[in-house]
Amino acid sequence: MPEGLLGRLALGLLISAAIAGAGVWRQALTWSGVAGAVVVGTLIFAFGGLAWAIPMVAFFVAGSALSALGRERKRALDAVAAKGAQRDLVQVLANGGAATALALAAGSTGRAALLFPAYLGVLAAVTADTWSTEIGGLSRRPPRLVTTLAVVPPGTSGGVTPLGLLAAAAGGLCIGAIGWLSLLLDAELTGLEPFHALALGALAGLAGSLADSVLGATVQEVRWCPVCRIATEAALHRCGAPAVPHRGWPRLNNDAVNFLASLIGIPIGTLVVALV
Ligand SMILES: [Zn+2]
Repeated sequence: MPEGLLGRLALGLLISAAIAGAGVWRQALTWSGVAGAVVVGTLIFAFGGLAWAIPMVAFFVAGSALSALGRERKRALDAVAAKGAQRDLVQVLANGGAATALALAAGSTGRAALLFPAYLGVLAAVTADTWSTEIGGLSRRPPRLVTTLAVVPPGTSGGVTPLGLLAAAAGGLCIGAIGWLSLLLDAELTGLEPFHALALGALAGLAGSLADSVLGATVQEVRWCPVCRIATEAALHRCGAPAVPHRGWPRLNNDAVNFLASLIGIPIGTLVVALV
């Protein structure tokens, strides 16, 4: 066991429990979501350190704040989505799983400088996707499907709006900026320039959001409520009727798509630092 790991695990647990507790109070997390956030936060702090934990906290705090935006209008979109605004365990792991694995790898191999750009890339991708969903959902213009550009109802997986794409780039850029600031806290993370952090944040953010939309428009499972005659992501529609498979791969739901799309941040983060 690396020196001091137990102490860092304990401190990480305290800090994550405090932040996740605030998340419940703000109605950003369910109780299972709290469990996920505490595990993710504790491991990232213990194995990565403060420089790794700060961008993750920024992702979580900004995402929770944005989901409170325009709550009434978003409630209407919940007719399409499987879940409400509160994140549960699976959603937390879909967004934080790859980042946690990278922090674990960095802490146990000592390759923090190599893995940190990939970590920032993953966080930029999930942040961008959250921002584009939360801000793009408020767009007055109807979304268009990323694959065919056909106009689709708001909330449809794979639908994009100019506002949503702008929000994706802004979310990624924000993580890049915070990642650059957190570099100042950790002397191990040499080789990453401020320009790298900002460029990889914006690029990984846009790519992550687009990857999420393309997967959402093509392979993501869509079900059909025969009673309401409406497409839905839920197995049991909110009217109470079971929804039948409609298109896409069975069980490849929104959470699985979020996780897969977050992985695009790994090559983008690594390549920006290696090539630029
Ligand atoms: Zn229904």
